[in-house]
Amino acid sequence: MKKLTELHQIIQQVSQAESLESALQAIVAGVRNTLHTDACSVYLSDQAHSHYVLMASEGLNAQGAGKLHLRHSTGLVGWVAERQEAVNVRNAPAHPRYCQLQGTDEEAYHGFLGVPIIHRQQLLGVLVAQQCAQNRFKKSEQAFLSTLATQLAGSIALSLSQNALQGSTQVQSNSPSQYEGGAGAPGIAMGTGVLVFSTLDLDQVPDRTAEDSEAEVAALQAAVDGVAADFELLAERLEPGLSAEDRALFRAYALIARSQELFDATVHRIRQGNWAPGALRESILEHVRLFEAMDDPYLRERAHDIRDIGHRLLARLLPSDASCETDYPPHTILIGENLSPVDLAAVPTERLAGVVSGHGSSLSHLAILARSMGVPAIMGITGDVELGKLDGTRLIVDGYQGRLYLNPGESLQKDCRRVQRQEKKLSQELQSLRDLPAETLDGVRLPLYTNAGLLSDLSHSLSRGSEGIGLYRTEFPFMVRDSFPTEDEQYLLYRQVLEAFHPRPVTLRTLDIGGDKALTYFPVQEANPYLGWRGIRISLDNPDIFLTQIRAMLKANAGLGNLRLLLPMISRVEDLDEAIVLINGACHELQNQQDHIVLPPLGVMIEVPAAVYQAEELARRVEFLCIGTNDLTQYLLAVDRNNERVARWFDALHPAVIRALIQVTDAARLHGKPVCVCGEAAGDPAVALLLLGLGVESLSLSSGDLPRIKWVIRSFSRQQGQELLRLALAQEQATSIRAMLLQALNAAGLGALVHPGNDIPVA
Ligand code: PEP
Ligand code: MG
Repeated sequence: MKKLTELHQIIQQVSQAESLESALQAIVAGVRNTLHTDACSVYLSDQAHSHYVLMASEGLNAQGAGKLHLRHSTGLVGWVAERQEAVNVRNAPAHPRYCQLQGTDEEAYHGFLGVPIIHRQQLLGVLVAQQCAQNRFKKSEQAFLSTLATQLAGSIALSLSQNALQGSTQVQSNSPSQYEGGAGAPGIAMGTGVLVFSTLDLDQVPDRTAEDSEAEVAALQAAVDGVAADFELLAERLEPGLSAEDRALFRAYALIARSQELFDATVHRIRQGNWAPGALRESILEHVRLFEAMDDPYLRERAHDIRDIGHRLLARLLPSDASCETDYPPHTILIGENLSPVDLAAVPTERLAGVVSGHGSSLSHLAILARSMGVPAIMGITGDVELGKLDGTRLIVDGYQGRLYLNPGESLQKDCRRVQRQEKKLSQELQSLRDLPAETLDGVRLPLYTNAGLLSDLSHSLSRGSEGIGLYRTEFPFMVRDSFPTEDEQYLLYRQVLEAFHPRPVTLRTLDIGGDKALTYFPVQEANPYLGWRGIRISLDNPDIFLTQIRAMLKANAGLGNLRLLLPMISRVEDLDEAIVLINGACHELQNQQDHIVLPPLGVMIEVPAAVYQAEELARRVEFLCIGTNDLTQYLLAVDRNNERVARWFDALHPAVIRALIQVTDAARLHGKPVCVCGEAAGDPAVALLLLGLGVESLSLSSGDLPRIKWVIRSFSRQQGQELLRLALAQEQATSIRAMLLQALNAAGLGALVHPGNDIPVA
């Protein structure tokens, strides 16, 4: 238990360190104290020079830090790195792999324990504890060091990248101006970073240039006066009921808020050019660090108070609606830790050039929305770069590779412009297919519908020749409001969509909130939201919400007749039966009230494994099936679609997913019901080839993907698709299936779809 507390203390110190050097120093000092050992050192790998650099040490030659090197593959340190696991030896100098680090008196130490520091499968370095005695370290000590190295790897990687950004260390994990995230939405964008941050969290506040320093100082003074007055008022108001000690506490808070030292330090930073919130963040965190390092536990606790006062001052400086006033420059690259579709919708479309999200993957709804808007996006970049540093910075977003470039040089910009020109040329060429049918070489029609959720999606869909809306995510219009839309509001919205596409079909899906789609006015807090109260489950538990939506849809369809109804997250037939009863009831009731109300074709989303195994029972009850590969892949492969850490395990070409698709199409065929595939995989040229072979009746995809997929459909025959499916079924791994399909695309002259954006050289 004591070790656990110490572990947390070290981790906290490291996360608050101002530089890589101080972070590493905190580690070695913390380990030496906790393990009561004679020496502790940390070595980081310098890939460029193929050696390990002694970066910090307590016990070895501390002056040598940053200067002493050990060639890769030499010494016990090299052995730890090679094995990528702990090495614990009794007498290091007697070990065949021993190699003394020149410039140290290392031979005095015998017991050696080294553990690797690994971040995202990349070895960053080695953490070493040494003792004079000829003893192996205890198992509990080894476990402590390994746990620490695992927990710190992310922070060390982040510090390394920041250091590289400042060009200030001899060890660089990456090129100084380039970071890797996940590909979110395709395309290349150049522009200026604008950070969306929580005004409630001091740590997220970025640095920004103050336009008028004196106005910033005045705002700070007003915030200080306001917060101090709040505390004084509180002490006064509560006086009769408060003990003298408690009163003193509130007065002490007021004094801290008015602290001259804090004020002067912040004003100094403002005068150096930072805006007041950024300057405040720095001063508060500086004080927090100071208190946290104190030995006296009472004083250490005061760090919390200072942080709390910092938040209060910030709230005065930045009222919570400050984000509404954000000034979005032309070519805005929107950045945020956890951006939501609502943040995206807040930027005027003509100004939004790209998106960089700290968390999430290409299957997050943010990425799906970015794709449908045609905006390049990078997902899940946290851990590699501090987002606050991107605010106001010139950036290039490579949404194909998920790569972010900071302050790009002229030649990189030139390369990007060239790729943008190629993209434009390809889109113009594909635009010529707009009015041609999506028909295979052997004459099979495979209608291409589009996925939509915002009204702007409709014009994109129409301009790209969409044959209808295959999936309208009704939750998006719910998300951009601050209360449930009324039946009339919903009616107007659905009517607009149905009219825009009439007589082409429009599939409106009932509300699918939950997972990563939250409504601010209907909060649902769950430990496992994707396995929780989501989609149809919420609708059936709240028939009023469901029926309002169904009535609005049925009325909107009156006289048009192109509506198709779709139910999300069906995992058992009871849910479907219950929903059918409600829908039929609403329809009959409306038919008694007005003309032209008809029962539209009903479909279910096949997106959980249970629905795959009961596809026959479901198909019997409805008019069509719609396979949602996003959720189906997530639930079949047990990979959170929104978690960047497991993104490489997410692949719709996994053999298990392909077999599930076959099972669903077979079941539907048995009952003569058509199948549409509407997950993001339908927009992936490689997957589309297999879907062609599978014999699905239609695809529904992001409008941005439509022209490319039409090109694929028109370049292959169904027979070729069937042959490719047969070959895919003989493979055991998604990677080999993808390689085979990409080769087929290349061979058919569709190489431009295989690696778009690949010609941007890695800086
Ligand atoms: C899916 O799960 O594949 C799907 C289309 O629905 P959503 O992405 O909205 O969950
Ligand atoms: Mg889904």
